[in-house]
Amino acid sequence: MVNQDPTNPSHALFDQFVQTQTCKEVQRTFSELCHHLELDPRDYQSFYTKLKERLNYWKAKALWIKLDKRAQHQDYQQGKVCAKTKCLVLGAGPCGLRTAIELALLGAQVVVLEKRDSFSRNNVLHLWPYTICDLRGLAAKKFYGKFCTGALDHISIRQLQLILLKVSLLLGVEVNTGVEFKGFVEPSEATDCMCFSSICMSFSPGFRWKELRGKLAIGITCNFINHHSAAEAQVAEISGVARIYNQKFFQDLLTEEGIDLENIVYYKDATHYFVMTAKKKSLLKMGVIKQDFSDANQLLGQANVDQDALLRYAHGAAHFSTGHRLPNMQFALNHAGQPDVAMFDFTCMHRAENASLVRERKGKKLLIGLVGDCLVEPFWPLGTGIARGFLAAFDTAWMVRSWGKGKPHLEVVAERESIYQLLSQTTPENISKNYNAFSIDPATRYQHVNLNSIKANQLQHLYDVEDHIDLDSVGAFEELLKWCQQHTAGYDRVKVKDLTQSWRSGLALCALINTFRPHLIDMSSLKESDSVHNNQLAFSLLEEELGIPPIISASDMATKEQIDKLSMVLYLTQIHDAFNERTP
Ligand code: FAD
Repeated sequence: MVNQDPTNPSHALFDQFVQTQTCKEVQRTFSELCHHLELDPRDYQSFYTKLKERLNYWKAKALWIKLDKRAQHQDYQQGKVCAKTKCLVLGAGPCGLRTAIELALLGAQVVVLEKRDSFSRNNVLHLWPYTICDLRGLAAKKFYGKFCTGALDHISIRQLQLILLKVSLLLGVEVNTGVEFKGFVEPSEATDCMCFSSICMSFSPGFRWKELRGKLAIGITCNFINHHSAAEAQVAEISGVARIYNQKFFQDLLTEEGIDLENIVYYKDATHYFVMTAKKKSLLKMGVIKQDFSDANQLLGQANVDQDALLRYAHGAAHFSTGHRLPNMQFALNHAGQPDVAMFDFTCMHRAENASLVRERKGKKLLIGLVGDCLVEPFWPLGTGIARGFLAAFDTAWMVRSWGKGKPHLEVVAERESIYQLLSQTTPENISKNYNAFSIDPATRYQHVNLNSIKANQLQHLYDVEDHIDLDSVGAFEELLKWCQQHTAGYDRVKVKDLTQSWRSGLALCALINTFRPHLIDMSSLKESDSVHNNQLAFSLLEEELGIPPIISASDMATKEQIDKLSMVLYLTQIHDAFNERTP
């Protein structure tokens, strides 16, 4: 064993990489380390092995022991099982990165795209016992010494992202930050590949989401600076107190502060973090919400929220629920330099109907899977986001493994969908308890899993081989434009000259819908100047009727300086395909 040499720059660089606390610094120190060790991180198949050979002093070695233990698991077949597989992961949130790590362990070439260039979310995630065990196995404690010290079972989102980013890079994952995914381009000579989306729904064409609409639920999160004083250390956390279990607490809170909550959680982490569900009536009474609206978007829209009153409300709830014992409560700042307090609508949650599908174009196959919030939106006060998110990441990796092993494509999808049936019902109590044995194999995690509950022949609709408009062929855009012109011809105030600007007022989209579904829109009622309304109407109808989610917001469509051409081409192509398919 080589001892650490304080004068060895690569040891110092590695230490910096392990300790560093921002996304940018992680990437910078990693790139310097690679440069110094003359290693090319794009050489993903042997990068980790070479890195270990060149960094063989005690501190690095302690990390390799941990990661090797995971990497040597039989499921990965020494990284050979997916050696020919290319994977693209969209979004470097915790679930995207956790998926990327598993795919790298399977031997795949993995590229992550993340639109942000910093990790800035202070909010704190609840960890189920298995996730703590999982993260310990990825050496979380080496990157973050305070990881789950004592009885703590939570971590800030940014800290979790940092740990997972570091592990990803060490395993040869290529992570590109500041890069936004806009849409798929049809293949030319590319080989089969996979794409795993942990980002919002509009970027996942072909999937449909179920809307689970409950009674109005307004969530508030807030973060206060943790000064790490002795007095703060004394204050007890609240792992979750709900109205039905502690009527008196909530009654006193209402009487003393005028604050009416359904539940509240308090975690002491890098910040003092609170998440609560507040009743609308008290938010109105305390002036947080200015005017009552039945539509949740309008109700919680920026214009209808008094930010100062919201800060007072959150402060009051936090102060009361900690028995007024948290001294010097100053709000931590968010990425925009503002007090980190936010209000969210949990009334309507989404769950994807399917977790995977296959697209085939020109004989090239793309397996697409959803992970994380994009698959099942979590209700934050219950803290299910990471726990179920990681389960789905492992299930996704299992699917890629089956694909890599050459299992027929629809059978791969059928197995994934069979496992997905279990996800929303999982709790810390009903998953297997032998956490150390957890692997990507679903049988190690779910107590009763039937990998064949859904049969391949039930899922023909998840194998998309349509190829109506060939975007790669010469003149493909013209072909699409011509089709749009043909089906919007003759409409008053509609002149389609291109695939971007001509669509701004929303009238062209409405006209297109009117051509194929005349009963849905009364064109004479639309005003050209009311472009946000027109676009919103068209987007909603296309989503409801054809299952095509919007690509941008109606207001962006109406006002944004540039409309992205590729996104519009993809959107219009989906409309074209859907109308052509469904119109006899
Ligand atoms: P996310 O963490 O949301 O990651 C998705 C990533 O995709 C983001 O980094 C985003 O920048 C990136 N992305 C989006 N679009 C694109 C694109 N087009 N191209 C490239 N990258 C893209 N959960 C709790 O339990 N408690 C909380 O208090 C809490 N607070 C939250 C606050 C916010 C503002 C958000 C967004 C989420 C919060 N959550 C909270 C949810 C929690 O963060 C997730 O459950 C968890 O992070 C796992 O999510 P994920 O990796 O699936 O997605």
